[in-house]
Amino acid sequence: MIEGVPFRDDFLERYLCSHDVSSPPLIKRFFKIADGVFQPEKEEDVLRILKFAEKKKIPVIPRGAATSGYGGVIPVRGGFVVDFTRMDRFEIDEDGRILVSEPGAVWWDIERELNKKGLTLRVYPTSAFSSTVGGWIAQNGYGVGSLAYGSIAENVTRLRVADFRGVNETENIHLYAGLEGTTGMITKAWIEVKEFEEMQAYAFHVSPEKAVKLVFSSDSYSALFLDEKYIRMKNSVHSTQIPEKDTLVVVSKKKLDGDESLGNEIWEARFYPMKIKRLGPGIIPAEVIIPSERLSEYLQRISGWNAGSEVWFIKEKLCAVLSFLPWDERKASYTYQWRFAVKALKTAKKLGGRSYSSGLYLSRESKEIFPGYNELLRFKKEVDPHNLLNPVKVFPSGIISKIMALAGVF
Ligand SMILES: Cc1cc2nc3c(=O)[nH]c(=O)nc-3n(C[C@H](O)[C@H](O)[C@H](O)COP(=O)(O)OP(=O)(O)OC[C@H]3O[C@@H](n4cnc5c(N)ncnc54)[C@H](O)[C@@H]3O)c2cc1C
Repeated sequence: MIEGVPFRDDFLERYLCSHDVSSPPLIKRFFKIADGVFQPEKEEDVLRILKFAEKKKIPVIPRGAATSGYGGVIPVRGGFVVDFTRMDRFEIDEDGRILVSEPGAVWWDIERELNKKGLTLRVYPTSAFSSTVGGWIAQNGYGVGSLAYGSIAENVTRLRVADFRGVNETENIHLYAGLEGTTGMITKAWIEVKEFEEMQAYAFHVSPEKAVKLVFSSDSYSALFLDEKYIRMKNSVHSTQIPEKDTLVVVSKKKLDGDESLGNEIWEARFYPMKIKRLGPGIIPAEVIIPSERLSEYLQRISGWNAGSEVWFIKEKLCAVLSFLPWDERKASYTYQWRFAVKALKTAKKLGGRSYSSGLYLSRESKEIFPGYNELLRFKKEVDPHNLLNPVKVFPSGIISKIMALAGVF
């Protein structure tokens, strides 16, 4: 297709690269299949793909490991998927404590190399075994370490980005973080890392209110709260015997008076939240950000749905709450259960919260997720006048965002 740039157009590859972990049955009938998949090996390849797409007026959709779940990687209008997994080189500046990485590098591969040099990532997602640098920055997520260091964007000092105008190196991270490739394709990132320190995880059986107080007075690195229902689900999936009580885990270099052995057991399992899927035919996830002082009220208000919740604490006195509702198609339709996700978001908004992310399904939430939304929209129109960079994502347009608006009325 473009000489020298790896390309696949067999049906299997096009089909696989047209899905992610989500794809709700209600709306996936509106999705097209990718016309082809480019696998760039270097920045110059990305520029050539962009020139080609611009000339032919065809959408281009960046893709990392496709673990994001908000539909951002789906080629809703067809077009070419740009699979970044071959661009996975990275370097470590030990003195400056900076990681310089291509977008396709996998977080845990990086962490292993950092550890050899006595360094470690400040923040990483619990999908770190497979998710990529470009994908997480483009989602602007929170994760392990966000209690001390905030979102991934707060730890990125510089980006190289390709768009139809060429390549731009910038410290204006906000023009790209969380925008899911709608304003440009990330080709390199400079990320702050830190010295490796021994830490311990401590467990406390406390209520959500007490958990919030404990976390924000403890000056710790990371903290995670699991409610009783979540632990019950986890025990049935992993055959663990974690006491089925609300539990807070705090990771700190200081000695705390919690249960170290239970803390470490739960902490070691932090990479496997989705294994809960084995509970039955499926789960309906709901993911929101809420102010920490409203955590208890939020969990109380969604408790009637029988969902289990995992809460990550974030430095600005915020909480990322990920709730799982087991869904059994023999008992209730997907659409009915899906109301849980809508209700959870509405409840969070009433309590001063917002959606965790935007993507395809929740693009109507972007105005609340991004404080400078209008500036971002102007920038999008400037760099992408024909709306070819991951169209229909983040900036709402088309049928999907209309269906999602209707869903909010249920
Ligand atoms: C088990 C599990 C645990 C998870 N834990 C967390 C967590 O702790 N925190 C969290 O925030 N999320 C978490 N997630 C969600 C997801 O893993 C993260 O958002 C993730 O880092 C996305 O990376 P990815 O490589 O899979 O990106 P993808 O899903 O491939 O892409 C994400 C978005 O970025 C765009 N994109 C990809 N590459 C580029 C690029 N080079 N330039 C521009 N745009 C690009 C894509 O088009 C898409 O819109 C989890 C998911 C799973 C399945």
